[in-house]
Amino acid sequence: MKEVLVQLFKLQSIDRDVLQKERMIEQIPQRMQELTNQINKQKEIFDEVEQRLKEDSNTELAIERKFQETKMSIERHKKQLVTVKTNKEYAALLKEIAAEEADIERLEEEMLVLLDNHETMENEKKEEEQALNKMQERYEKDKKMLEEKKVLFEKEIMEKKVERENIGTELESSLLKRYERIRKLRDGIAVVQIQGENCGGCFTRIPPQVINEAKRGDRILTCESCGRIIIYMEEG
Ligand SMILES: [Zn+2]
Repeated sequence: MKEVLVQLFKLQSIDRDVLQKERMIEQIPQRMQELTNQINKQKEIFDEVEQRLKEDSNTELAIERKFQETKMSIERHKKQLVTVKTNKEYAALLKEIAAEEADIERLEEEMLVLLDNHETMENEKKEEEQALNKMQERYEKDKKMLEEKKVLFEKEIMEKKVERENIGTELESSLLKRYERIRKLRDGIAVVQIQGENCGGCFTRIPPQVINEAKRGDRILTCESCGRIIIYMEEG
């Protein structure tokens, strides 16, 4: 293969690498935003459980208060039993006490249900909190990792660009311009290898005589379909 083709291929390798790294750098903010969104969603879930738990605690307190009031009322009514004058008043008091005792029973049942529920919700809260913490840890870890990656990539891109310029100066300016033009039109890739019988860029079949010519490698050939420069390289 002619030296110029080797140089073009090298140039393309560098540009491909730079392009990939630039794209990865570009994607970093989006990745961080995705993680932030996840955390915010989890925060909402956690807040909601916490809010329900708070409401339940208020209900528990109200029931507890009602329970104590009813107990005291029963005591009071029992004392009144010995002081009432008539059978009618006595019967009325007994009826009231019975109703209050029924209330006590009902309140105790309600309390049991609430306490049971409370425990479930406490567990739920703990789980949501753990999930939230895990997400925040992950965020910090990913943030650090991506920032390091970015620094490394930027350094590598700088180095590659110097290397690229050196190769660029060795090529004819008209060829370099042609290369850049194709690259711009074809998503950053101007030079591709022939893969089997197909163009490595657009996968269109390449006529056998073109492949044979590419094997000789003594002139610059392009894919009829995508216009990229095609080169033939021995396997391995
Ligand atoms: Zn093609």
